[in-house]
Amino acid sequence: MRLVLATANPDKVGEIADALGTAFELLPRPESVGEVDETGTTLEDNARLKARALMEATGEAAVADDTGLAVDALDGQPGVYSSRYAGEGATYADNVAKLLSALEGVPADRRTARFVTVAMVCFADGREVAAVGEVRGVIATEARGEQGFGYDPVFVPDECGGRTFAEMTLEEKSAVSHRGRAFRQLAEALTIRAYR
Ligand code: IMP
Repeated sequence: MRLVLATANPDKVGEIADALGTAFELLPRPESVGEVDETGTTLEDNARLKARALMEATGEAAVADDTGLAVDALDGQPGVYSSRYAGEGATYADNVAKLLSALEGVPADRRTARFVTVAMVCFADGREVAAVGEVRGVIATEARGEQGFGYDPVFVPDECGGRTFAEMTLEEKSAVSHRGRAFRQLAEALTIRAYR
């Protein structure tokens, strides 16, 4: 199945291709289509906005995802605003620094968090298929590791020996991650229901 990718973020493209597997041909986002504004108030709204914009621009089925990091001690923040946690135009490092400072002094047993990804395909005839993936873990007290992106240096997934996502290979992260789970489930739904 051919799917146009709504994201041009190379960090995400590798993880999405890995999780979807070889039954899917992923077409890059055309250069004429810019970044789609994430104006929704839920992950699902934003995934739909991005997938639909690419489907409308290309006339082909398009796939998008939206991810949020929900930190329990911060009442679920930064959530849907994870990319802009430290303000518009914030870098990954800015967001990580703000998160560590917001959790300063919070003990280990209260640093629980989860990543949630909504992955969605929009077809040209209006059908859509969505899947949700989640991983639980804790926020470390300092950044560790060089792999991955975003909050990976401070996210320690449960049951992975205390390593942060940034201390894992792409394959190790993908096996347990929110994005890996969402896209494997999406691939299964698309395959089982034989969408064309
Ligand atoms: P997006 O809206 O799906 O691009 O994700 C929002 C923000 O969440 C990104 O800018 C990253 O900072 C963060 N993020 C998304 N996925 C991941 C991940 O797999 N690891 C770490 N951070 C992530």
